[in-house]
Amino acid sequence: MSIPIVVQVVVDKPLAQGFDYLWDESELGARPEVGILVEVPFGRSHLAGLVIKVSAYSDYEIHKLKYVTRRSPLPPLGSAVLRLMNFASQYYIHALGETIIPTIPLMWKKPDDWEKIPKKLVADAEKQKKKNKQEAIEGFVDESFLNAGQKLALEQLRTCSASEFTPILLQGQTGSGKTAVFLNWLSGILDDASAQVLLLVPEINLTPQLERRVRAYFPDKKMVVLHSGVSERVRGIAWHDAMTGKAQIILGTRLAALTPLPNLRAIVVDEEHDPSYKQQDGIRYSARDLAIWRAHDLKIPILLASATPSLETWMAAKAGRYEYVRLDQRAQGASLPKVHLVNMRDPQTQFSPGDAGKPKSKSLISKTICNAVSQSLENKQQSLVLINRRGYAPVLSCGACSWLSKCEQCSAYMVLHKAGAWGRKSVLRCHHCGLVKAIPSHCPDCGNTDLKTLGQGTQKIEDSIEEMWPDARVLRVDTDSSRKRKGAEELFQEIHTGNVDIVVGTQMIAKGHDYQNIGLVAVLDADSRLFSQDFRAAERLFAQLVQVAGRAGRSSKDGETGGVIYIETQLPEAAVFQFLLRHDVDGFLSFTANERKEAGLPPFAYQALVHAEAKSLDKAIQFLIALKGYWKSQGHISKGLRVYDPVPRAMMRVAGSERAQLLVESDDRKNLQEILEAMDRYLREHSQGRISKEGRIRWLIERDPISI
Ligand code: ADP
Ligand code: ZN
Ligand code: ZN
Repeated sequence: MSIPIVVQVVVDKPLAQGFDYLWDESELGARPEVGILVEVPFGRSHLAGLVIKVSAYSDYEIHKLKYVTRRSPLPPLGSAVLRLMNFASQYYIHALGETIIPTIPLMWKKPDDWEKIPKKLVADAEKQKKKNKQEAIEGFVDESFLNAGQKLALEQLRTCSASEFTPILLQGQTGSGKTAVFLNWLSGILDDASAQVLLLVPEINLTPQLERRVRAYFPDKKMVVLHSGVSERVRGIAWHDAMTGKAQIILGTRLAALTPLPNLRAIVVDEEHDPSYKQQDGIRYSARDLAIWRAHDLKIPILLASATPSLETWMAAKAGRYEYVRLDQRAQGASLPKVHLVNMRDPQTQFSPGDAGKPKSKSLISKTICNAVSQSLENKQQSLVLINRRGYAPVLSCGACSWLSKCEQCSAYMVLHKAGAWGRKSVLRCHHCGLVKAIPSHCPDCGNTDLKTLGQGTQKIEDSIEEMWPDARVLRVDTDSSRKRKGAEELFQEIHTGNVDIVVGTQMIAKGHDYQNIGLVAVLDADSRLFSQDFRAAERLFAQLVQVAGRAGRSSKDGETGGVIYIETQLPEAAVFQFLLRHDVDGFLSFTANERKEAGLPPFAYQALVHAEAKSLDKAIQFLIALKGYWKSQGHISKGLRVYDPVPRAMMRVAGSERAQLLVESDDRKNLQEILEAMDRYLREHSQGRISKEGRIRWLIERDPISI
């Protein structure tokens, strides 16, 4: 009898360990290799799994092991991507199998199709060849046409080593030509015919425009696009082209960050500050952070581009840990838009009963903005109206003075939790430290009894815009109208061709689109996004406002002004607006850094959340209280480590279950890692997968949460 071959296989289950199987070489037609995708019997069914170890031994009785049933035609995942997966699994406290397997496109995980796949690939490759030729050239700026600032930036990038870990922040206001610079930089790297580059972008709806632009720069290179809007089959082929090194340019959203790339030489993360780089279910990774780890592991440069860098990145660049390249002029010569703050506490900005032009229904828009939009219509310029839909629990405010429900124990705002779901009384609650207080009957500062939540009633705004300007061509853009990628494309085309007078929508209209004719941007009710339970709210809003302001006056036709932006707020004196008035990104970031430092918040501390989901909120909270109690009793809660009281999630109810969270914070990253790993072990001992045996609570640990 020959020596048995044992392989360890991980599957897509929340199980910490891999499983041993036997490998029959003559049956499977090849020797086993680490990184190969196989089919294995699992319980009563069969599953796709990945080989992570090959040996001659098993801790189990060899004769009891089952055999690997099939081997996929996929080449093995390389060692580099397996290192990345291992890191992600450990750092994000997620089992290796459920980290790796979901990143493999569905097409490759159907063992019944494995025999047919090679033929399919050939057919698709033929089709691709024909299609590639028809792409139009768009937005291509040759190196020789770069302006002086861009040229300098490009030179700086080129002096960065190509064979060392070199993180670079490319900071430049919207429209300053960052994209043109980094595409020219990548072009140099791609001179090596086998080199691959990874270009990450935040959102699906940004890719069509950028995709054409990238293609225009590299007509001779093979490029693939990876995001969740691409059909399974196309994505499966694209992913295969990437992992076999056939594709040189990999353009995609966060999920592309985990693609196996054998010849990766450089990474670009565009709009690196964007929250959509954070995965919000399953393994809750940050694609940007993993991309940085990957660059470090491979010793290659990674460029992070943004007009409003995240505080983390900006501080690293300031401190000299990242290379710092800046672009400080708009590429097409337009000046920055003029910012107007509309003080909502000032009666002059509002309609009064007798006003001419006052809309019939109760207006949800200030008079100042109405006038500005009307003016813009008269001037035949497009307007962009940004609505802030709230995903936040509301902060309580006083309309008479500037009082807000700030937490007395920490630097966060307390938010309103309505009666019903949990407790019989409405209360104010701090999501940071967990403090609960009764709702005050009057304003503690001025005695006003009419306290309101910020950001009321924005839902009807789209209707009232159509009512106010019945003759204008209004286009609504929201996630529903653009769920399909095609839909978004067409919508934006409408805007470009000038068939629209007023564009109304939520945040997504604010992002990187290169609009050319927008003269006015109006931001309604900015406060609902500024004052919330989340300490990052101001940073987010600032980035968003800079982005949306950047949509106005992109081109300066014959010396026209750069456009205007109006922002509705009850608190124009707030720092975020004051810095915005001056377009002072660095000032704002430096102010925010000081604030965070004083409050001991990220990036000066490290955080994690333990999520709990149960039939009733009470159960979820009890589970977390017990967990906290256990940790206290074990003496694990030390000086540098804080475990706060559990709170309900801001979006508490999801499909029949209710959710709560426990915030764990540490001054030390390693210390946090250790405690989380121990917490994970403890929870696993008392759970089946990720559901507690007692009480059936679904739990999950999240590293570096971006919203609390
Ligand atoms: P950013 O990425 O900083 O927002 P882009 O690279 O998208 O800026 O440039 C903004 C606009 O200016 C685009 O339409 C782009 O084609 C154009 N552009 C960029 N660089 C130049 C240049 N040197 N000359 C003329 N137009 C340019
Ligand atoms: Zn007051
Ligand atoms: Zn607090």
